[in-house]
Amino acid sequence: MLNGYLKNQCYKETIELFELICFSHWGFDSYSCSFVLKACMELEDYKRGREVVMRAVDRRVDGDRFLGSTMISFFMKLGDFDSARRAFNRMVERDVVCWNSMIGGYVKGCLYGEAFDMFLEMILCGVRPSAVTMVSLVQACGAMKNLELGKCVHGFVLIFGMGTNALVLTALIDMYSKTGEHERARSVFNIMPAKNLFSWNVIISGYVQNCMVHESFDLFRKLVLTGDGFDSRTIISLVQGCAQVADLESGKVLHGYILRKGLEMNLILSTAMVDMYSKCGALKEATFVFDSMKDRNVITWTAMLVGLAQNGCAEGAIKLFGRMQEEGVAANSITLVSLVHCCAHLGSLKKGRSVHAQLFRHGYAFDVVNKTALIDMYAKCGNINYAERVFGDGSFSNDVISWNSMITGYGMHGQGDKALDIYSRMLDKGLEPNQTTFVSLLSACSHSGLVEQGRSLFLSMERDHNVRRTEKHYACYVDILSRAGHLEEAEELVKQMPFQSSHEVFEALLSGCRMHKNIDIGTKTADFLLCLDATNPGIYVMLSNIYAEARRWDAVDHIRGLMRRRGLKKTPGYSLIEVGKQLHAFFAGEDSHPNSDEINQILENLKSELEASGYVPDTSCVLRDVDEAMKIKSLWRHSERLAIAFGLLRTPEGSLIRIIKNLRVCSDCHTVTKYISMVVKREIIVRDANRFHHFVNGNCSCNDYW
Ligand SMILES: [Zn+2]
Ligand SMILES: [Zn+2]
Repeated sequence: MLNGYLKNQCYKETIELFELICFSHWGFDSYSCSFVLKACMELEDYKRGREVVMRAVDRRVDGDRFLGSTMISFFMKLGDFDSARRAFNRMVERDVVCWNSMIGGYVKGCLYGEAFDMFLEMILCGVRPSAVTMVSLVQACGAMKNLELGKCVHGFVLIFGMGTNALVLTALIDMYSKTGEHERARSVFNIMPAKNLFSWNVIISGYVQNCMVHESFDLFRKLVLTGDGFDSRTIISLVQGCAQVADLESGKVLHGYILRKGLEMNLILSTAMVDMYSKCGALKEATFVFDSMKDRNVITWTAMLVGLAQNGCAEGAIKLFGRMQEEGVAANSITLVSLVHCCAHLGSLKKGRSVHAQLFRHGYAFDVVNKTALIDMYAKCGNINYAERVFGDGSFSNDVISWNSMITGYGMHGQGDKALDIYSRMLDKGLEPNQTTFVSLLSACSHSGLVEQGRSLFLSMERDHNVRRTEKHYACYVDILSRAGHLEEAEELVKQMPFQSSHEVFEALLSGCRMHKNIDIGTKTADFLLCLDATNPGIYVMLSNIYAEARRWDAVDHIRGLMRRRGLKKTPGYSLIEVGKQLHAFFAGEDSHPNSDEINQILENLKSELEASGYVPDTSCVLRDVDEAMKIKSLWRHSERLAIAFGLLRTPEGSLIRIIKNLRVCSDCHTVTKYISMVVKREIIVRDANRFHHFVNGNCSCNDYW
């Protein structure tokens, strides 16, 4: 009767009937216990399950082979390995199924050592292992990525005469794939007498795991030719392969194939598609698949969100996160950390803080990767104090990346001394600096005008730390020298560089020349730069500035012509400001903001106030060939001024104003912002393409190095 209920999935009835039996004069035996325990497992009622076990032990019916096996599975499912082992030990007779339950349970619980001990015990007791035993052991080797042990187990498989068993061979293929031995995996696959779809799927996914996407497609074609068909698992592996190597072409072919064959787009397959399109940067396609899905899980949402975040749509990612929350899907660590990167990109401190709070609530805030992302975010959002707080004493991380991000943060904020201090603490801790460390350090020195410290770092990196200098390091060092006015030394260094000179190095030199008005080296550098086919419009602007200062109007015209011919437009400048919960964007020269009348009024007032305090506009930043008055007018339409005016309009008096600008701040806006901070008595933080400027009472934290 009990068995009948169980077979018909009437688990509650099984348990109720068992209670009746217990209180009747018949009593229960090992069989009834076993049935009811299985029912408890199905219902996941572990409390009652334990009661049943206790009664069985009281009655001493638990030594039986039948109940014993059930008890082992029950405890293994619970993860209670000790109780499982005790149940096993109490058994009077044990068959191979009991041994397999123990070994399989240990493997599932990642107790691989125990699994192998059990296997040895089993051999010593003279029990012959079955295919199931060997599959568990092979899986253990794959999970541990232990190739040597895997080969031993393979040897046992042959000794026990299971060399043609499809189940065992498929497990071996999987193990060899996981340990990176795709050739062995392939030869096991080739000798398989009866290949089934499962084994095809395992070998195809093995190739994908080893980044051999081309080969996995070859196998897929062979599989199609066999006429045995394939299933969604096959396709999922292939889609994942395309995602891995960002092969959009093959991905699209697969998608077309699925549609033509009318395959069902289940949750896992659709999610893999979204992920593939996201990783290939095909956001339109990713969004299309995403929107057409009926069910989505956290992995789907995250795949879409990461896609948006990594393809420059930080705002889209944050909006999507809002939708995800509305639909009640709980975010995971990956979702949140990519949001942290989005907030860093947008410089949105408020959103960044709320994501930090969520990381904290979910217990993800202590992870090294997440902490590093938070440090980076706070630094980029202009709050170096929060970054410092997250970093603490750095003891949370032995990973150079975390230390580098703190050094970069200090550098961006013009706190070169603190960057150097972190560096020496990092060395004390025994961490080895890498190339990024030195890029961060050198640029920190350049932002703070620390010439000598920069020089000694540049010398010591190869000599003391065996870190090879790259072009980037040269560019930073040239930047340090030329900002400080050591232009001859910088020029000499450029000549001696062991690489072909790049834009970056020349740009650094050129901007130094412009700063120190060295027309001689400036024009020479400019001529060099023009020979390189530069595509960054910023360079052309800087070049024409230099020529304009040298009054070489012919050259200025020539550069304008070049820009036109090369199809280069000056990247439109824009500034962002966060007011309330919203980001407002202002483009240079634009009047389309709803508050634009009030903004213009504020700017008018500021202009006269600033001029009264001694501000003289520097019109050399204006390239257009117009009269002085027009130049001044166009300066007052620069995006950061619009954003600051809006900030003055909409934020409480005395509060800090935070602006993010996509390009480098021009020298006149820098001067104007200094004056504004003094006249209106407000702190203003501007993050431009290069660094942070913290304006207080007429001064900037960059000390005019930028
Ligand atoms: Zn400007
Ligand atoms: Zn500044």
